[in-house]
Amino acid sequence: MKPSPFVHHAPRSVAEAVAVLAEVGHDGKVLAGGQSLIPILNMRLAAPGHLVDINRVAGLDTVEVTDDAVRIGALVRHALLERHDGAFAANPLLRQALRNVAHPAIRNRGTTTGSIAHADPSGEMPAVLALTQGYVEAASAAGTREIAAADFFLGPLESCLTEGEMATGVRFGRFPAGTGTAFAESARRHGDYALAGVAAAVTLTDGVVTSVRASFVSVTPTPDVLDLTEAFAGREVADVDWVKAAEMARDHVDPDGDIHATADYRRMLAGVLTTRVLTEAAATALEGQSR
Ligand SMILES: Cc1cc2nc3c(=O)[nH]c(=O)nc-3n(C[C@H](O)[C@H](O)[C@H](O)COP(=O)(O)OP(=O)(O)OC[C@H]3O[C@@H](n4cnc5c(N)ncnc54)[C@H](O)[C@@H]3O)c2cc1C
Repeated sequence: MKPSPFVHHAPRSVAEAVAVLAEVGHDGKVLAGGQSLIPILNMRLAAPGHLVDINRVAGLDTVEVTDDAVRIGALVRHALLERHDGAFAANPLLRQALRNVAHPAIRNRGTTTGSIAHADPSGEMPAVLALTQGYVEAASAAGTREIAAADFFLGPLESCLTEGEMATGVRFGRFPAGTGTAFAESARRHGDYALAGVAAAVTLTDGVVTSVRASFVSVTPTPDVLDLTEAFAGREVADVDWVKAAEMARDHVDPDGDIHATADYRRMLAGVLTTRVLTEAAATALEGQSR
């Protein structure tokens, strides 16, 4: 199908973009990589009268690594972030997760910020933003604000961005020294949306567990974080049996069944994957290595 008619706007600055968004109100949509929006328009699941295409906006395509964050602009494509060695060194979880986002052709065009703004609980990067306790940076005609990941996702495909507001970028937090991370998912074919996925971070101090956290893909309505620290902190990592975390993960998730998998199957996968990623993250932390 073809999309409903729309007016295409091509602003050159954030100020111009938010001025157009303010003018067109609820009838406007930001267009970034188009990898989610264009199929939605073609299927006429949405019919906005105005597309505010931010691809010509200057200054939104940078990756910056600071002491406490990896900050990316709204036009940073998944593929650019995946290849960025500085971002990988600062937070290996970014590349670990990005490898699982769709296919390379889609990663070449789709933006990481767009995937977070889209707020799809089947997306990998919302779960990573949540686990890293990151922030979304937003701008509107009224000014700018920063939104913590914990407040950003309101429900499936629903964020707290308001009418007239665009995301100008996101900041992924960095983990403390002694942290190992891992990401794993199960999909019917590589590149498909995950039936279930788990991101994990395990922090050790002198071989003793001090923090254990996980977040989920496709099995929770929003990418909330399961904090397992209380169950495992204070133990020598060599003595920890991560199989015990599987039951906590199964209790935490709330999957839907669909034509691809039943809810029970997704729940089972979430448990198995949680044990797998915690084992890998703990081993990485112990070796002091990143992958
Ligand atoms: C076949 C296929 C498979 C895919 N598989 C996966 C997958 O496995 N995992 C995964 O995570 N994703 C997957 N995707 C989606 C892909 O990652 C998208 O690129 C991403 O979700 C959206 O980014 P985008 O830049 O293309 O956004 P767009 O498609 O341009 O926009 C998506 C939505 O976000 C809004 N938006 C985008 N940018 C902003 C902004 N800066 N401010 C405010 N709102 C904004 C748009 O208005 C729109 O509502 C897949 C896509 C396809 C076509």
